[in-house]
Amino acid sequence: MEQNKKESLNFIEQLIEVDLKEGKVQKVSTRFPPEPNGYLHIGHAKSICLNFGIAQKYGGQCNLRFDDTNPEKEETEYVDAIKEDIKWLGFDWGPSAYHTSDYFEQLYEFAVRLIEKGTAYVDELSAVQFNELKGSPTEPGKESPFRNRPIEESLEIFEAMKSGGFKDGERVLRAKIDMRSPNMHMRDPILYRIKHIKHHRTGSKWCIYPTYDFAHGQSDSMEQITHSLCTLEFEVHRPLYDWLIRQLEIHPSKQTEFARLNLSYTIVSKRSLRELVEGQYVAGWDDPRMPTISGIRRRGFTAKSIRKFTDTIGVARRDGITDVALLEHAVREDLNKTAHRIFGIMDPVKLIITNWPEGHQEIMTAENNPEDENSGTREMPFTRELFIDRSDFMEDPPSPRKWFRLGPDREVRLKKGYIIKCTGFKNSEKGEVIEIYAEYDPNTKSGQDTSGKKVKGTLGWVSAPHAVSAEIRMYDRLFLTENLNKIDDDFKNHLNPDSLTINTQAVLEPSVRDAQVGDQFQFERIGYFRVDEDSHSEKLIFNRTLTLRDGWTKKND
Ligand code: ATP
Ligand code: MG
Repeated sequence: MEQNKKESLNFIEQLIEVDLKEGKVQKVSTRFPPEPNGYLHIGHAKSICLNFGIAQKYGGQCNLRFDDTNPEKEETEYVDAIKEDIKWLGFDWGPSAYHTSDYFEQLYEFAVRLIEKGTAYVDELSAVQFNELKGSPTEPGKESPFRNRPIEESLEIFEAMKSGGFKDGERVLRAKIDMRSPNMHMRDPILYRIKHIKHHRTGSKWCIYPTYDFAHGQSDSMEQITHSLCTLEFEVHRPLYDWLIRQLEIHPSKQTEFARLNLSYTIVSKRSLRELVEGQYVAGWDDPRMPTISGIRRRGFTAKSIRKFTDTIGVARRDGITDVALLEHAVREDLNKTAHRIFGIMDPVKLIITNWPEGHQEIMTAENNPEDENSGTREMPFTRELFIDRSDFMEDPPSPRKWFRLGPDREVRLKKGYIIKCTGFKNSEKGEVIEIYAEYDPNTKSGQDTSGKKVKGTLGWVSAPHAVSAEIRMYDRLFLTENLNKIDDDFKNHLNPDSLTINTQAVLEPSVRDAQVGDQFQFERIGYFRVDEDSHSEKLIFNRTLTLRDGWTKKND
């Protein structure tokens, strides 16, 4: 979509191009139909990129349709969040945001039409009887004794169901198809059920609601959708959808199924994600560890990298599992080009340059992003007292061939600053290094080095009097298990207990002082970080988006 116009077509695009060529379709029309019962996740992002992407590519239209047939589970909060997420991903449904509940009247009329044709009937079996008659995949079902009741009677009862004459479960409307069909979905499926529940949009107007199977295909048809793209589990429903369209003689939408996205170390199921939110295993739907679009946005994943990722993995016809490292790679690739570099010291220890005059300050300059010439530069004050990272110093380091960083009598370059030589250090009573002493060589200023010295180690640093302290939320993968589709026990047993550690001692270079929520940085040698919404005037809070390299992070990494 974005770069390579000549890329090979996926199987859905191939089908569409045939339909266009043969004149079966003039304008491609797709839809993204979320049920507003939770926040969207990365799996939905795949469907969004596919449906909106195809509409864009073929100059068509993609509708947003809230599939709100289930009155008990849906909330306006989810509708708003879903819209925000789709926009953030970079897509636009234009004027075409619909709700299945807008079609309740029309769907009711369709149901009446089926009864009138003798292809639907009102049943009054108990739930137990219903199950007894339905059979099993290997054994045909049996017809209900109410199946052949007169059309007039079904019409009357259906009307009474609508007017509130029955309690939940007392009657249902069923299609009259084939109780012996090998496809269970064709064994007189339920089209309408009674639910005396208020709907978030239609209020108490209705007490009968269409099933998903009845609403879905007809909604596609009413919106004149040409290509209805579904995940594979709906393949077995397709004969029913086609049957209903034929019976009603309405616009046929062509359904094509594709494999849902499964990601390693990740759960993509709203129901399970809701369990994590409600059980307070995470801080909310937008917790940066969640695979929700709002979660990964807050974590620092970019819309562009998500689009790139879905492009890269393509569309498959068979279910599989995609390595989450591919997504993380796309994020790193994008941030590497866009995120400004800064020095961040996660575990600071003081470094005193003993031959640097007290009160003296020099300004060092560094590129904001060496990958991008136009990104400008930043200034960093260099003073007598600096912070470096504790992990960059060893009291008794191994041979200089193995350890390039600082230790007694060793030399390193302070990046964009001077070469220094360690002259000593001080321990606390507990034996912890609390100060390191060094001397700088005035002939080694970065960019103006006349010393001819060569050192292997280069360290990040921050001027102590200028350092900005921050809270750093170090996020890691939420689950320890690679394939969560293949577990027998509760998925919550597989949560990573170290998916969040909070660092409150980190210090950052002063250029970051005015950072705004949403700003993203690369802390050099450490990783990518984003300023979190929880930041306030007293304190900057950063989320670690990802480390610089692939794979698991060590504690305190
Ligand atoms: P969940 O199982 O998470 O509740 P769902 O399919 O029930 O997902 P919907 O809101 O009905 O959620 O999904 C809206 C659209 O997104 C559907 O067309 C569905 O096929 C698609 N979708 C959902 N999950 C995925 C996924 N993992 N990969 C690709 N598409 C998905
Ligand atoms: Mg669904």
